[in-house]
Amino acid sequence: MSRAPDPRVVTEAITPKGLRIRGLRKVFGEKVVVADFDLDVRPGELVSLLGPSGCGKTTTLRMVAGFLAADAGRIEIDGSDVVRLPPDRRPSAMVFQNYALWPHMSVFKNVAYPLKLRRLPKAEIERRVLGVLELVDLAHHRDSRPATISGGEQQRAALARALVQEPHVLLLDEPLSNLDSKLRVKVREDIRELQQRLGITTVLVTHDQDEALSMSDRVAVMNDGRIEQFSAPDELYDAPRTSFVANFVGQLNTLPGVVTGGRVAPRDGILTCVRPEHTTCVAPGSGDLDGIVRRVVPRGAFQEVVIDLDSSGDEPTGGSTTVRSMAVRPDVSPGQRVGLRLERPMSFRDGARVDSPAPTHTPGR
Ligand code: ATP
Repeated sequence: MSRAPDPRVVTEAITPKGLRIRGLRKVFGEKVVVADFDLDVRPGELVSLLGPSGCGKTTTLRMVAGFLAADAGRIEIDGSDVVRLPPDRRPSAMVFQNYALWPHMSVFKNVAYPLKLRRLPKAEIERRVLGVLELVDLAHHRDSRPATISGGEQQRAALARALVQEPHVLLLDEPLSNLDSKLRVKVREDIRELQQRLGITTVLVTHDQDEALSMSDRVAVMNDGRIEQFSAPDELYDAPRTSFVANFVGQLNTLPGVVTGGRVAPRDGILTCVRPEHTTCVAPGSGDLDGIVRRVVPRGAFQEVVIDLDSSGDEPTGGSTTVRSMAVRPDVSPGQRVGLRLERPMSFRDGARVDSPAPTHTPGR
């Protein structure tokens, strides 16, 4: 080794740049997979694309990386449109879900690979690779093959291979899905810390709401190829603009009507939704609704109480509605009659929030 590894190599080389997407579209056969897709990611920001399987997250990310041709739209990095450039000519680098490391190459060679393709001088490659291995705490495994290191270490090797390219935009496709749940929490903290330290503009694809909420500056919730809401994590949770977002981010009790006079009364297709942690068990008759406890489910730090509401008789099915309450040791048992206090209710009609400003998606806000 000619020179000591210098983690500042990458830290200093990365200049935060913004990403701007307008009118992105992708159609596979008859199926419109991504449509009218606009997104602004500010320099140094981490934005997640969150949504259920098949909503078009990976397709969007692959178009940004250049692995998939867009049918329409612009993808601007640092103000220039890269939509027609091949992946290796774009100032972005991607970490794949399965890491895509070469099994026959050492960690060092895997990380060096993109620089070798660019025919960088050997000394420059060595300096950058050692710097980035130090940065992801993998210098001691420089000669190991991927199969001989842990899943978390393979993940870091894949991240190092992306960072060594000094990308202006880092693209992460479900980077934690192959790790067990404990390690996942640790690795997501590590990635977020490194991303903030480097100030690297990042887009993360995930279907895991915990991952999106805990790692991101802002989250774009996708449904059927479109963005339903683009907000900071707390706003997404506290002020969802559609019932899809409210349901996808966190749990929700849904009541078929408005709550009035101790019952749920149907009204103009309105649904009243309340989070389980805002649904509190109180003495019968002293809350907004009454019901009977069906089950108490231990969930570790808190308990989940499943309650069958008293049937109002007006409901179309005549059946009862089930709601959930989350609390620390709620002191109720199955069969017990309870009242329920509903705090911070939200109203939706045809999927849209009707007790707050109409849903709008403003890119870059
Ligand atoms: P997941 O979390 O399951 O990866 P996703 O949101 O990333 O889901 P995409 O992988 O972007 O979803 O896929 C969106 C839709 O496009 C799916 O219905 C998928 O079957 C379809 N699709 C993706 N790639 C192709 C392809 N090459 N040819 C045809 N259809 C495709």
